[in-house]
Amino acid sequence: MGLFKPAWQSSNEKKAIRAVEKLVDQDTLAYLAENAESTTVKESAASKLTEHGARKLTDQRVLVDIAQKAKDLKTRVAAMETLAARETLPKDLEEPLNRDLKELAKQERIEICTEIITKRKGEIIHEQSWEGHRGTTFKYECHTTLYCESCDQKTPQKLVYIMRLTNDGQFDRASYDKAIASCEICSLEVTLGNVWDFYRR
Ligand SMILES: [Zn+2]
Repeated sequence: MGLFKPAWQSSNEKKAIRAVEKLVDQDTLAYLAENAESTTVKESAASKLTEHGARKLTDQRVLVDIAQKAKDLKTRVAAMETLAARETLPKDLEEPLNRDLKELAKQERIEICTEIITKRKGEIIHEQSWEGHRGTTFKYECHTTLYCESCDQKTPQKLVYIMRLTNDGQFDRASYDKAIASCEICSLEVTLGNVWDFYRR
């Protein structure tokens, strides 16, 4: 440490918290979440941790705290997974972990479908016009990671999505096409439903 103490080390708690609020560096935030003298500074640093930062923590109490309280679902899951990798997950965290993983899987499915639709990502492997419509049928195939109910963890999965676009680039609302995710480990296939369901959820 040089001549100047960083502001988050200030003995003035308000000043320290203001400094923590500006911090983005996850190493520093993880350090402070575990080691700051002031509880308020600790909590403030913990609340700024992301999924990435939560994985850097070693203090079990801090991990449990974040697993239970973090606002961001991914951060909570990361804290629980980090705990589980080191020791047996405390009984009272097992059920929340499974619940959060399922919620995360649902959210990620929405994210993936939205991404495919808005950015038209994925490889176009089939393209054609269909009778009575001026437009194109696209079949997207991409690889992603999703929660698998059967493996009870996130696994690599193939996602196949079919949808129709009219020539002016609008999605054909009449075509209730489906996305199918298949687990590359246990082969479980899950129909993710059509895109409009995802928007409604
Ligand atoms: Zn599986």
